[in-house]
Amino acid sequence: MHHVIIGNGVAGIEAAIALRRRHEDARITLVSEESEHFFSRTALMYILAGQLTHRDTEPYERDLYARMGFTRVRARAIGVDPAARSVRLAGDLAPLSYDRLLIASGSRPRPAPWPGGDLPGIGTFVTHQDLAWLERELHGGPGRGGAAPAADAHLSASTDDSPYRQRPVARTLRGSPPQNPMVIGGGLIGIEVIETMLAAGLKPRFVIREEFFWPMAIDAAESAWIQERLREHGVDVLTATQIERFEGDGAVERAVLDSGQTVPCDLCVVAIGVMPNTDWLADSGIERDPGGGIVVGPDLRSSAPGVYAAGDCASVTWFNGSRRPEQLWYTSRDQGRVAAAAMSGDDVAYKRGHWYNSAKLIDIEYTTAGLVDFGYDDLWSWFHEERGAVRSTTRIVCRPGEGDQARVVGFNMLGRRWDHTVLIRWIAERRSLSWVLDHLSEARFDTELVPPLRIPPEARRAPDAAAR
Ligand SMILES: Cc1cc2nc3c(=O)[nH]c(=O)nc-3n(C[C@H](O)[C@H](O)[C@H](O)COP(=O)(O)OP(=O)(O)OC[C@H]3O[C@@H](n4cnc5c(N)ncnc54)[C@H](O)[C@@H]3O)c2cc1C
Repeated sequence: MHHVIIGNGVAGIEAAIALRRRHEDARITLVSEESEHFFSRTALMYILAGQLTHRDTEPYERDLYARMGFTRVRARAIGVDPAARSVRLAGDLAPLSYDRLLIASGSRPRPAPWPGGDLPGIGTFVTHQDLAWLERELHGGPGRGGAAPAADAHLSASTDDSPYRQRPVARTLRGSPPQNPMVIGGGLIGIEVIETMLAAGLKPRFVIREEFFWPMAIDAAESAWIQERLREHGVDVLTATQIERFEGDGAVERAVLDSGQTVPCDLCVVAIGVMPNTDWLADSGIERDPGGGIVVGPDLRSSAPGVYAAGDCASVTWFNGSRRPEQLWYTSRDQGRVAAAAMSGDDVAYKRGHWYNSAKLIDIEYTTAGLVDFGYDDLWSWFHEERGAVRSTTRIVCRPGEGDQARVVGFNMLGRRWDHTVLIRWIAERRSLSWVLDHLSEARFDTELVPPLRIPPEARRAPDAAAR
């Protein structure tokens, strides 16, 4: 039995490990264009900010592949022929035949859609090659995290449209460091890049199309605090602003905004989202959703026999019946494991548990758990802002019901650290708002030097119906 896995990210490697546990003697081949070793994509910014080395971001020892008996192929897959059960590879590499195929090819960055968006000095921040590019733009070469392993290598087994190609560096063409960096896109990747620019001693401009930063995840009041903190660090935050075009002679020099204003710009990171990295499957006959995600059933099987998909590239069914990829680290990990079980013949179904995430937005802690979606009319929030030795906001999202009939379904917390496992347990236990407020300190995850959150009795009341 030959298991071929396209992708050496968290979905691909977790599937490979799970397959090896089940099949001692099976052939397992991992194909990856981007990197030799599995690394944590979520930690890319820490390398750029000089806080981690490349090696620090590799969750497994490098001898994992040899120990587990995995064959590695560093090449770009350019198509699948399900009838022949083979994968075509770029360059002059022979096709790879398989018995079971897992596609775990992740996401690619959404490119700059504006005129001039392909000028040197404009790029994205999703891949190892993006990191290598931005290190050169910001630091003139590898930063304190060291050189990106083999991300510089010009693979013969690649194609011009690959998201893993190197791009020209404006700093080299210009001969000087950037003075006027810009980041476009008010989401998690955008703010991470802003932080790396601040760490490099620059004062970037942050262009956000929406009315406030990250409306998908936080509300206007929470966002106002983040924007305030960004401005304190010298970031020029432009909300409700769009780009018309970029201009420059040989490399980007300025951006024209939708207001007609022209601003200097000699480095720009476009962080306007990612999309399933599946365009290489266009002529493979494998069903994809309109956004490019590979349509899979509950057992992560695709429309083609013997072909499965997991991670950012898989279009799965959500709790509300909609279908799209999940694009998260831990869901990709879980999908990789479920796909391995399905490929081994188990009767399994992928079912995502409660949503959770945590991050640090500049120096503000952020924890979210459960259902915190501002699109649900029937939910209401209990909200408390603390301004003392610690500044924090606590949002507890409830389903309708008066008094203790209201059930907590989500949490959005800023400024303090919380243990999401406890928060998720309370959601699963269908706890009431008053019960959660009584026990909130049990979910504390702050260091012992941080004073506990005290909620005054008058703030504990649930908002009345009119205020919801
Ligand atoms: C900057 C950044 C920060 C993030 N932060 C968070 C976070 O805080 N929390 C969170 O939950 N998620 C975060 N994410 C998202 C998370 O990293 C992804 O959901 C996760 O890495 C997806 O894993 P994957 O295995 O599906 O794909 P990927 O990690 O994208 O791996 C794709 C693999 O496929 C290979 N590949 C693709 N196409 C081909 C081809 N044609 N031929 C050969 N090989 C190919 C690549 O070489 C690579 O090995 C972040 C993402 C980014 C970019």
